[in-house]
Amino acid sequence: MSESPTDRSPSCSEALEQLHAVLDGELPSEEARRIIDHLEACPPCELEGDSFRRIKEAVAASGNALDPASLARVRELTDRLCREGVPPTA
Ligand SMILES: [Zn+2]
Repeated sequence: MSESPTDRSPSCSEALEQLHAVLDGELPSEEARRIIDHLEACPPCELEGDSFRRIKEAVAASGNALDPASLARVRELTDRLCREGVPPTA
């Protein structure tokens, strides 16, 4: 299986890695689109996308810098969800 970085869907870890750059508007729109496509197709990553957005909004509202420890915790949680699957929703 040959892998071209511009021509395939990102893996979960890649999507999560790029997520903050997407939210910060740091990625070219084509790249961002690939990440967002993955998020929309992958519930654990979508969950992380939502959490990330909420954290960033809260941080923006408070005017404080983003706490790296908070980001690490969100990422850890989603890594686990990606590996173990999303818990069934009631
Ligand atoms: Zn994923």
